[in-house]
Amino acid sequence: MNIDVLIIGQGICGTFLSYYLQKEGKTVLVIDDNSRSSPSKIAAGIINPVTGRRLVTVWMVDENLPFAWQAYQAIGHDLEITAISQKNIIDFFPNPFMREGFVQKIETGDKYVHAYPEQNHFNSYFNYDLGCGEIRPVYTAHLETLLPAWRSRLQKENALWEEDFEIDHLDAHGDKIHYKGLTAEKIIYCDGARSNENPYFKNLPFAPNKGESLVAEIPGLPGMHIYKKGMMIVPMVEKDLFWIGASYVWNFDNADPTEAFRESTEQVLKQWLKIPFRIIEHRSGLRPATLERRPFVGFHPLHKQIGILNGMGTKGCSLAPFFAKQLTDHLVYQLPIAKDADVNRFAKILAR
Ligand SMILES: Cc1cc2nc3c(=O)[nH]c(=O)nc-3n(C[C@H](O)[C@H](O)[C@H](O)COP(=O)(O)OP(=O)(O)OC[C@H]3O[C@@H](n4cnc5c(N)ncnc54)[C@H](O)[C@@H]3O)c2cc1C
Repeated sequence: MNIDVLIIGQGICGTFLSYYLQKEGKTVLVIDDNSRSSPSKIAAGIINPVTGRRLVTVWMVDENLPFAWQAYQAIGHDLEITAISQKNIIDFFPNPFMREGFVQKIETGDKYVHAYPEQNHFNSYFNYDLGCGEIRPVYTAHLETLLPAWRSRLQKENALWEEDFEIDHLDAHGDKIHYKGLTAEKIIYCDGARSNENPYFKNLPFAPNKGESLVAEIPGLPGMHIYKKGMMIVPMVEKDLFWIGASYVWNFDNADPTEAFRESTEQVLKQWLKIPFRIIEHRSGLRPATLERRPFVGFHPLHKQIGILNGMGTKGCSLAPFFAKQLTDHLVYQLPIAKDADVNRFAKILAR
């Protein structure tokens, strides 16, 4: 079997890369092991223009936010699903300093940070003595709908192998690659945190970050906003279900869920929510983060037939569509990849 591109991984990166390559008429095959703990399966899907306690504007957001909205709308349209919704963040101030910081940000004229006029609007659901503000626009990518829908499409086209990719079977000598009876012009790794096991890219400065979240049933809580007070409560596709999280842990022994996260999150929820809730799931996974918080996109400096789309860290939902398109345009039209993201900034390390 001959194809243009073999893609390893069908997280959000492999999904958009296969989508854009097919749009350009390229034949693809995706190999994915369907792991339940991949971050794309447990992410909230939030596409947020500001980040952290200081509400810092996210890298490339003015380009990325409209691009992400359009990209999810387009793939959703093709698959006849809703792949993205606008869900602005109601930010409840946890302490006076955070409120002060928020107000100061509004006074700078920031286009994403706004006052929320109806301060008592959420009184029946939440305890919040210090008021709230609004971050908008914020989007939620519905990965729980999108990933299986795209997977089914690939399966129907015989373009997905559900198995572990075994690198020992890869023959990457010459200018094509061969794998278990398959010949491809290129192989592109979209394998998330497992790329640091990959002999071609393991020297890149990956810094995996562990994240845990809960899924809770909260009957009666309106699902049109994301609620934030230190942690986030994010409406899921199914009515009354909410994603709650997340933790950011740099030092960890394994990727498993911990009792400590569950207990402390439940405690916070009990104090914050005025209405009953029931935890129904506890998830955990590793974000493919990088030391300098920028992605790895492009082709290996020595092996031009081997590429990567990875390192999306905490921002895969917004960055993956943008860089999947950029990598596709690079491959098809030789257009450049953004300098900060181009994996060739590590050419010396990769050549070792
Ligand atoms: C708790 C949590 C919350 C998050 N929330 C958000 C959020 O709200 N917004 C946001 O933008 N980002 C969020 N993220 C980050 C986001 O999930 C990641 O940036 C993104 O999912 C990375 O996607 P990926 O496709 O690069 O990797 P992955 O999701 O890891 O996908 C890689 C795929 O490749 C498969 N694979 C790997 N190796 C092999 C192999 N050898 N053979 C076969 N298959 C293989 C894996 O099983 C997986 O399916 C969150 C992450 C976590 C952990």
